[in-house]
Amino acid sequence: MYGVHPAKDSDEAVGNGTTEVIRTYQTWKGSNIFFLGGRVIFGPDVRSVFLSIFLIVAPVAVFCVFVARKLLDEFAHHLGILVMVIAIVFTSYVIILLLMTSGRDPGIIPRNTHPPEPEIMDQSLEIGSSQTPQLRLPRIKEVMVNGMTVKVKYCDTCMLYRPPRCSHCSICDNCVERFDHHCPWVGQCIGRRNYRFFFMFVSSATLLCIYVFAFCWVYVIKIKDSEEISIWAALIKTPASIVLIIYTFICVWFVGGLTVFHLYLISTNQSTYENFRYRYDRTENPYNRGVVENFKEVFWSSIPPSKNKFRAVVQREPETLPRAAGGGGFMNSNVEKTPSDIEMGNRKPTGNNGDEMSGGNNRRSSWGRRSGSWELPSDIASLASGLGDSNRIIGGSSGSLGGQNRQ
Ligand SMILES: [Zn+2]
Ligand SMILES: [Zn+2]
Repeated sequence: MYGVHPAKDSDEAVGNGTTEVIRTYQTWKGSNIFFLGGRVIFGPDVRSVFLSIFLIVAPVAVFCVFVARKLLDEFAHHLGILVMVIAIVFTSYVIILLLMTSGRDPGIIPRNTHPPEPEIMDQSLEIGSSQTPQLRLPRIKEVMVNGMTVKVKYCDTCMLYRPPRCSHCSICDNCVERFDHHCPWVGQCIGRRNYRFFFMFVSSATLLCIYVFAFCWVYVIKIKDSEEISIWAALIKTPASIVLIIYTFICVWFVGGLTVFHLYLISTNQSTYENFRYRYDRTENPYNRGVVENFKEVFWSSIPPSKNKFRAVVQREPETLPRAAGGGGFMNSNVEKTPSDIEMGNRKPTGNNGDEMSGGNNRRSSWGRRSGSWELPSDIASLASGLGDSNRIIGGSSGSLGGQNRQ
C-alpha cells in the first residue's frame, strides 16, 4: 500500500529514514512500460511501436531515394523538390501522431486501494453457517444516460465501478475510460485521451499511402513518356516503384479500411469495443447525439487531464492487511479473479444489452441489495452527467458481489 504525498518534481526518489520514497510509476500495478522517468507511458507491447515506425519510415526512405529524387527536375519552377519535402514532412507528422497515441495515458482510471464502502447494512441477511453479517456490493449498478439504462460493472482488479464506456484492458491491466480497443500496432490502449490522435494517425497514414502510390505512378508515366515505351517496360525500369506500388496498395486497404470503419464509429458515437459487443444497430445507443455532435465530441472537445500522476512521490509503506471484515464485511479480498473478468480476453456479455450475469447461477441475490437508490462515486457521476443534460442517475442493483459467490 502506498500513501500519496504531495508531488515533488525536482528530484528523484530519495531515502527517508526507514521509509523508502519512490514515484508512482515505479509502483504501478498495471503492466505498462514507462520511459523518461514516468513522463511517457506505453503498453507492455511497446516494441511493436518500433516495428510500426519501421514499416512507415522504410518505404518512405525508398520512395525518397528511388522515386522523389528522380522527380527533382521533372517539374517546372523547381517544384520537384516539393515531392520529397512533402513526403518527409508528412511522414514526420504521421510518426508524431503515432507517438502521441502510444506514449500518453489513454484514460486510465486509478485503482482504488480499498473497495468502495457499501452504503447500508443489509438487514435481510441469511443467518446460516456464518453468524457474521456480511455486506455485499452489487456487482452491477445501473445508471441513466440520456434516458437509457446503462449497466456499470464492478472491476475486481481496480476495485471500482467502471464508469459508463469504461472497460478493463487485459493486456495493460487497467480500466480505461471510453475504451476503444488495445491496438497492438501502437502498443497502447485506445481510449478517451488518445482516440483523436489514433484516428488522425490512421487517416494520415492512409493519405501517406495514397501519396506514395500516386507519385510512384507519376514517375512511371514520366519514364514512359520520355522514353516512349510501354507502361510495363517503364515499370520494369523502376523496380523500387513496383515494390512501393504493391506495398502501398496492400497497406491502404488496411489503414484506409480502418479509417472508414472509424468514421462510421465516430458518426454513430460507438467505440470499437461497443460495436463488437453491443451491436447498437439492434439496441439503441445512448451516446449517439447526432453526426455533427458526435464528430465534435471526438475532435473539438477538450481532452481531460490524466487522472494519474505517474511522477508523484509516494512512500513505500509496509503491506497492510485488507480492512477487517467487521467494519463492513466486504469480501473483496476473498474474491478470486476469474477469466470472465478480463474484458478483452473473454467476451463475456456485459453492459447495455442487459445480458450480464444472466448465467450467474452461483449468485445469491438475497445477499445483495435489491432495490433502493444509491450514490455513485463522484467521478462516475460526473462522467455520466457529462454525457448529456438530461442525464439522471438512479440506483438499482442486479447482482451481488460476495466473496464466495463469485464464479
Ligand atoms: Zn479495472
Ligand atoms: Zn491496453
